[in-house]
Amino acid sequence: MSVPFIDLKTQYRQLKTAIDANIQTVLAHGQYILGPEVAQVEARLAERAGVGHCITVASGTDALRMILMAEDIGPGDAVFMPSFTFTATAEVAAVVGATPVFVDVRRDTFMLDPDDLTRRLEAVRQAGDLRPRAVLAVDLFGWPADYGFLTEFCDREGLLLIDDACQSFGGSLNGRPVGSLAPYSATSFFPAKPLGCYGDGGAIFTDHDEKAAILRSIRVHGQGAQRYDVARLGVNGRFDTLQAAVLLAKLDVFDRELEQREAAAWRYDVGLKDAVTLPPRIPNATSAWAQYCILTPKRDQVREKLQEQGIPTAIYYPLPMHRQPAYAHYAPGLDLPVSDALAREIVALPMHPYLDTETQDRICAAVKAAVA
Ligand SMILES: *Cc1c(COP(=O)(O)O)cnc(C)c1O
Repeated sequence: MSVPFIDLKTQYRQLKTAIDANIQTVLAHGQYILGPEVAQVEARLAERAGVGHCITVASGTDALRMILMAEDIGPGDAVFMPSFTFTATAEVAAVVGATPVFVDVRRDTFMLDPDDLTRRLEAVRQAGDLRPRAVLAVDLFGWPADYGFLTEFCDREGLLLIDDACQSFGGSLNGRPVGSLAPYSATSFFPAKPLGCYGDGGAIFTDHDEKAAILRSIRVHGQGAQRYDVARLGVNGRFDTLQAAVLLAKLDVFDRELEQREAAAWRYDVGLKDAVTLPPRIPNATSAWAQYCILTPKRDQVREKLQEQGIPTAIYYPLPMHRQPAYAHYAPGLDLPVSDALAREIVALPMHPYLDTETQDRICAAVKAAVA
């Protein structure tokens, strides 16, 4: 019996009536571009995140790139980020012409290491050829990064803090929702994310009124006050009305799904605590549990054993950014030992709200047998 890594089919079966009705509504009114559902979902997401503005966009990658564009970050600018992340984090800095500066992560959180960030900033200042501009923090696998430290650090050093919240929307830190933890946050509604639509999508969260207006302009080719005024460089970055309609239905059950993910994570923790290194749990925070990733030196044996039993696994991420062919030239001779070690030992297990206890028991037994 094979197990889904992420079970979107069960979710659709449970939400079919609402999703189908919302899609029918869009087909009936026909406003496929920036229709009423887009404004509705933006209002609900902004409220949920506790910020003044949510600007929905075509993907999480566009959300990140548009933030950099709105801040005029480009050639000559250094953007600090973890090397252990999805490629989009690094890509957006490079495509606007800025320089991604890769920083190592902490083994106990998988996120930006404050000591290494401090060292890398110092190194950039010493070299003197780049202007330090921003820290692009990644909330890896669903937990928020350390925004207490990061806010203080960025304020002190005159850097802009941006939250790559593509995996963490739904999480929180000290009672504050992801979306409100940095001056800008970017999330993704890619189908496999905790809050996913049925295609590509994303959103930007900010409290900055003026920048929110600029971001809305960038989203439609830099449009000015009149339709064919081009006030600035922009992109085609709109979120589809049909995707907004899907998201509206999914938002109704999102809190319940987050609880179900948390329950599934606890069942894994209990079942696997003596066999592997469990994923981090960050104090005073909640996770959206985008992924449940364990560490084990016997990763290959674990993957093989699970595959034999029809249980899929995934590796996030097999190669840190500073070693990727597309980015290695930004990091000549750079040694980030924790990122390298994580890439060797990490493996993600099936994680979604519809995991049943029996399936999880089977997965835990297989992992234990593999490492025994
Ligand atoms: C998924 C993801 C992105 C990009 O989101 P898309 O919607 O796929 O463009 C960026 N950063 C991280 C960390 C992600 O996981």
